[in-house]
Amino acid sequence: MNIHEFQAKELFAQFDIPVPRGKAMKTPRAAEKWAAVLDAPVFVVKAQIHAGGRGKAGGVKITRNRADVPALAREILGKVLVTHQTGPKGRKVRRLLIEEGAEIAKELYLGLLVDRDTGFPTFIASTEGGMDIEDVAAQTPEKVLREAIDPAVGFQPHHGRNLAFALELPAMDNAVVKPFLSMLDNLYRLFMEKNASLVEINPLVITTDHRLIALDGKVSFDDNALCKHPDVQAFRDLHEEEPLEIEAGRHNLNYVKLDGDIGCMVNGAGLAMATMDVIKLAGAEPANFLDVGGGATKETVAAGFRILLKDKKVKGIFVNIFGGIVRCERIAHGVIEASKEVGMTLPVVVRLQGTNAEEGRKLLAESGLKIDVATDLWEAAQKIVAMKGKRRKR
Ligand code: GDP
Ligand code: MN
Repeated sequence: MNIHEFQAKELFAQFDIPVPRGKAMKTPRAAEKWAAVLDAPVFVVKAQIHAGGRGKAGGVKITRNRADVPALAREILGKVLVTHQTGPKGRKVRRLLIEEGAEIAKELYLGLLVDRDTGFPTFIASTEGGMDIEDVAAQTPEKVLREAIDPAVGFQPHHGRNLAFALELPAMDNAVVKPFLSMLDNLYRLFMEKNASLVEINPLVITTDHRLIALDGKVSFDDNALCKHPDVQAFRDLHEEEPLEIEAGRHNLNYVKLDGDIGCMVNGAGLAMATMDVIKLAGAEPANFLDVGGGATKETVAAGFRILLKDKKVKGIFVNIFGGIVRCERIAHGVIEASKEVGMTLPVVVRLQGTNAEEGRKLLAESGLKIDVATDLWEAAQKIVAMKGKRRKR
């Protein structure tokens, strides 16, 4: 799960990581009032969306004049911001962070994430802050520093010293070395205590008066640990999530929306991945990943079916079930029920194998619905790709 910058900064403050004075506001009027309270020499007005690259897209405005704040707020609020991270559709700005501007002497990059190769939480740091770290890594990989932390040992002072010296901080500004070491310690605590999967501060700035401040903040969390953190759950913003994925979550379905036109419903994540591969091999693109799980019931199948049909791109549906724990006749009941309920007009191919597959196929064949039944995966995939987009005749 991702959160907004203003929420990340709330968390940072809880862990004694310095952030600018600021608050999130939803209207120009509220922004105006808060600016009066803030009473700073420089004001920064920042669009709050779950994407970076806002600066270049016009989502970050800076002014020395307090009277400008409401106009800047009006300009950004409600705007659909397109950045290199939002995709072409962009994201609507519903909230702004209004904060005290910093006088920047130097922009750094600081991140902490789980390195997939070593399995260790790993700090990433660079003197090239404010830019896309991916570009820095591609063009000047020597400027991206890493420091892996063995979680069994935890963050140690030598980890901090290694990074501080590699960044040449003592030469850059000796006054920020100690605060930097504390910041790394605090960041590591936040990361572990909140089960984060990524924390990113870009830019981390050294100010002209020698302070170290997190000027931007991004935190992602491990969804599987969210149940342990009601405070983090409270940060969830459904506006920022794919509506079909939210609905799928309510039915405990693992659904990820993709861009193709063959909707697929499968039991088991591995089989779902294989099914997507087979759809591609047969010459089409999957519209989604959907794992209805090992314990799929008639109800979950019906819910999955309704979600597939809400995706207007879908031109054909491929149900691929291997009955292990799940029984194929239950799946058949779900498919039949959902097809009747929605008045299915799209081609559907159902491939059933395993427990009670025969009974399931019989139910489908006798349902009076025009559903194609298959036993072989490759055959079934070719069939649905050939039929996609064709209207079914009853
Ligand atoms: P992003 O573009 O979505 O990553 O948004 P950021 O929060 O990183 O802001 C983009 C850029 O705006 C930063 O790299 C800074 O150069 C600039 N910026 C943001 N806040 C301030 C500030 O308080 N003072 C100054 N001078 N520049 C700022
Ligand atoms: Mn940034």
